Amino acid sequence: MGWLIPCAEKGVLMKPVKPADSSTSPASIAAKVPAAPRKKRKAAELMADESVILKALDATTDSIYLVDRASMRIVYVNETACRLHNMTRADLIAQGPSGLLAMPTTEIEKILDTIIASGTPSEPVEITRVRKDGQVGCYELRRQPVFAAGRWLIISVVRDITEAKQAQNRIVHLNRVYAMRSGISALIVRVRTREELFDAACRIAGTEGSFPMTWIAMRDPATSKLAPVASYGVPDDMLAGLARRFASNDTQQSGPQPGQTMAERAVLGKKAILNNDLASDPSIIYATRHLQLGVRAIAMLPLIVDDEAVGVLAFYSTQVNFFRGEELKLLLDLTLDIAFAVDHIDQQNRLAYLAHYDVLTGLANRTLFLDRVTQYVHSATLGGHRLVVYVVDVERFKNINDSLGQDAGDRLLEQIGQWITHTVGQNNLVARVGTNHFAIVRPVVRGTDDLQTLLEAQLENFARHPFRLNDEVYRISIKAGAAIFPSDGGDANALYKSAETALKKAKLRGEPYLFYTTSMSTRTSGMVSLESELRQSLDQQEFVLHYQPKINLESGKMTGAEALLRWNKPNVGLIAPGHFIPTLEETGLIHDVGQWALSQALSDYLRWKAAKLPVVRIAVNVSQLQLRQRGFIDVIGRVVSSDSAAANGLEIEITESVLMADVKHSIACLQAIRDLGVTIAIDDFGTGFSSLSYLARLPLDTLKVDRAFVVDMVSGAQGLAVVSTIVELALALKLKVVAEGVETEEQARLLRLLGCHEMQGFLVSKALPSDAFEARYLPQFA
Ligand code: C2E
Ligand code: CA
Ligand code: CA
Repeated sequence: MGWLIPCAEKGVLMKPVKPADSSTSPASIAAKVPAAPRKKRKAAELMADESVILKALDATTDSIYLVDRASMRIVYVNETACRLHNMTRADLIAQGPSGLLAMPTTEIEKILDTIIASGTPSEPVEITRVRKDGQVGCYELRRQPVFAAGRWLIISVVRDITEAKQAQNRIVHLNRVYAMRSGISALIVRVRTREELFDAACRIAGTEGSFPMTWIAMRDPATSKLAPVASYGVPDDMLAGLARRFASNDTQQSGPQPGQTMAERAVLGKKAILNNDLASDPSIIYATRHLQLGVRAIAMLPLIVDDEAVGVLAFYSTQVNFFRGEELKLLLDLTLDIAFAVDHIDQQNRLAYLAHYDVLTGLANRTLFLDRVTQYVHSATLGGHRLVVYVVDVERFKNINDSLGQDAGDRLLEQIGQWITHTVGQNNLVARVGTNHFAIVRPVVRGTDDLQTLLEAQLENFARHPFRLNDEVYRISIKAGAAIFPSDGGDANALYKSAETALKKAKLRGEPYLFYTTSMSTRTSGMVSLESELRQSLDQQEFVLHYQPKINLESGKMTGAEALLRWNKPNVGLIAPGHFIPTLEETGLIHDVGQWALSQALSDYLRWKAAKLPVVRIAVNVSQLQLRQRGFIDVIGRVVSSDSAAANGLEIEITESVLMADVKHSIACLQAIRDLGVTIAIDDFGTGFSSLSYLARLPLDTLKVDRAFVVDMVSGAQGLAVVSTIVELALALKLKVVAEGVETEEQARLLRLLGCHEMQGFLVSKALPSDAFEARYLPQFA
């Protein structure tokens, strides 16, 4: 068998010349082949046919090149090589090794000589080259020396391993992404904060996932703008640039419009935005910079929590087309894991926060407050000092909430929380412990501390503080109950309870504050018996009505009377309504007692009328619970149906705040009552935070100025101005105006000057039992 010797000049093959000195050359081996059997000989003949060999060489998928070492010329290339280089065989051959490899001939000579010297095939080497489609191909190059026709030839075989290499790379990458995902899964279990989660996730993506760059940006729910929160491998200036870009609204800048970067589109559309070949899209921010850094593909994956895109994860890969198939699926799963972790952390935080803080004021709640007091009690025990716990009640909070709306109520509570915190100086000593209740602890009380004077001063300061709600200034008052360790309780719970008891007492007694005393708890349990006593008192006819006259300020004539309830308790005597009405309301007994008061007042009226006494309309106080009761109009209807003249004898007094609580209901209800011929007075006016527009819509007859304003009236110009305004308002609304609690001539004189119609108060008379009232007032007008 002959060896094919390429003829470079002609581009055709020549017969080989046997080398003289080599017994290892393929030609010599072929020559030594012993005489073959018939079949084998036929095959050998076939092989001797050059065209068969050439076809076989062209059929292989490897590119084959033959270089003559002596002349340093390419003497043969196969078809596959031509395709690889996209050249004709002649052109390819004409390039020569130096042109083909883009290397100086002397260097190639050195390489070839080394191979010839070794006499064996070279180790395969991997080379890359840009293919005609622009993609980078990966190739394996093997070289083998051959001595033929008296010269050294080098056979180079180049195999395209691009796909195999890519597959291998993908497996490596996939494994990395797997490793990264399991790293992040492990992390999710232990992280406690978002920051920790994001930092670690980016770091793991970089180290385990081999992503050269990763970052996470979160959306500000208020502005909807993204802001980077964690990153790995991203140069600082790029990160800063990114942050600026997300924050900017500048439509003039280069690249995508505001809100249109890949990351923002991912968040907006709640779907992954990919660029698998950066070189193809120069509009991307930092495209050139990324390419310089070796980045070839980018994925922006939205973080979706509760169906809302709360942020975005950015992955940068060095491989074109990296983000697809299995890798992409894994990364999307990973994003779900992180979103889950974010939600989990948020929930934990929310729960921890809710468990210990009041959301509205940001102050500690009762649980946390008691925890803190427990610690202070411990220190006080060790230090041998006292400590004090205060529980504070915001008075008439419900009225404010009802009349100004819950928002205003919330703002007020916030402001009160701030005022208390500011006064105390430390927010960890203050808590909001109920709707309108705050608690304060003073951890160290020294022997010389005068707690009472201090508390009084603070309550006064509070009462003077202007609280702003809906652009109006309001003065609010608070009541306080105080308990001291160790005398009033040995632990946090006991102390707190004692302070609460003291507060309840203060409210009951109308005191601005009370310090706990042991007798309070016994009297508190006494309240239970109060309830059972009250239940019997109605049947046993222990309730009585006293009447207080209302006088016309001009004429001095009596124009009406107010019925005021008293409890004539056996062995005790008369008890004022302030002591039992709250309990009647709490127990629902107010409905029966209230109904009794209405019928009793009317039966007194009708009795006086029947006796031809100069009767006046009697005003009966109605509790908020009665007004809200569905059958209340029927109750009034029944009591006035007893006599055709009955309705003329009845007025009902309803506290301002009660009417404002549900204006719509109040209007309908008051109208129905008025339709029965009964008149209506708004009681305690000035304390209920009425809105003027509501007031004008209410069907009213009389406005009663609260006693507090009458008291303030003589103390200065401001007090006088307040009453003057109220009177003017009543006149404008065509209401009769009555001043309550008038005790002095001076007050009466001023009220007269202001144009107030009527007055009621100790100046004229206290409330009197019906017989005394009858004897003293009714004959005068006979
Ligand atoms: P109110 O409706 O504002 O009644 C006026 C209160 O002021 C009465 O207290 C009256 O005795 C007192 N008073 C009158 N003139 C003067 C004065 O010149 N100086 C001072 N310091 N006080 C004066 P009372 O009788 O203790 O009633 C307290 C509250 O109990 C009443 O306030 C009313 O809200 C409620 N009340 C009284 N009777 C009833 C009733 O039958 N039903 C309901 N639901 N509540 C009632
Ligand atoms: Ca009243
Ligand atoms: Ca009143």
